[in-house]
Amino acid sequence: MMEVMQGVYKISGIWDQADLGANVYLLALGGGFTLVDAGYRNKYRQILKRIYRLGFTPTRIHHIIVTHHHPDHVGGLAALKGLTGAKVIAHKLDAPYIDGRMPQAGPSRPGWLKRRSGIFSDMLATPPCPVDIEVEDGNELPVAGGIKIIHTPGHTPGSICIYLKQERLVFTGDILARRLGVKLPSMVFTADVQQEISSIRKLAELDFETACFGHGFPLRKDAGKIVAKFANKLKVPRQALNPKP
Ligand SMILES: [Zn+2]
Ligand SMILES: [Zn+2]
Repeated sequence: MMEVMQGVYKISGIWDQADLGANVYLLALGGGFTLVDAGYRNKYRQILKRIYRLGFTPTRIHHIIVTHHHPDHVGGLAALKGLTGAKVIAHKLDAPYIDGRMPQAGPSRPGWLKRRSGIFSDMLATPPCPVDIEVEDGNELPVAGGIKIIHTPGHTPGSICIYLKQERLVFTGDILARRLGVKLPSMVFTADVQQEISSIRKLAELDFETACFGHGFPLRKDAGKIVAKFANKLKVPRQALNPKP
């Protein structure tokens, strides 16, 4: 666990970053508690335990914001909502995949999943969960002291970044990842790379100092500048241009 800044905690492990699936963040801001993303299906107990360990009571979590519908971000959502009574916030284009109206879209290269299905099928199973607040680009919500929703499609149609202007902080979900530097996330799970690049450029226009990613450690200094520099150089990766197997 890690305190990213005052009132913002990365719940996932320090060394084993992927221990919950995607990173899960707890925001103790604006007089309430908010989670960003919910990890894999079988990780919710660990998430609750870590929230207790930080000295917080999970039933005080009022909102869970979902950056996008992938199983490593929403697997534990139904359980966490059930146990905390939190309201779920997600973009209206990803909501149908979260609440079960649409089946979870598989990776863009099904062969990839087939080779791994033994280990992954259980983790990838996502119990559907109702979305209480469907959001769109530019929506401002009185959650965690005030957030703005930035619609950043590409990785999934309804991917969002969450912007806390006062804290100069963004949560990028999976439109960017951090692995020895800022990177595009896994192409295998990205629906539309061209659109994702436009979304990264849109994100780069915001004024922020700190970025929290779905995967990898937060950038706590000059994140806006680093993302802008990365956005400037971005080209569609060759692997994404190859015909899909
Ligand atoms: Zn992810
Ligand atoms: Zn994802």
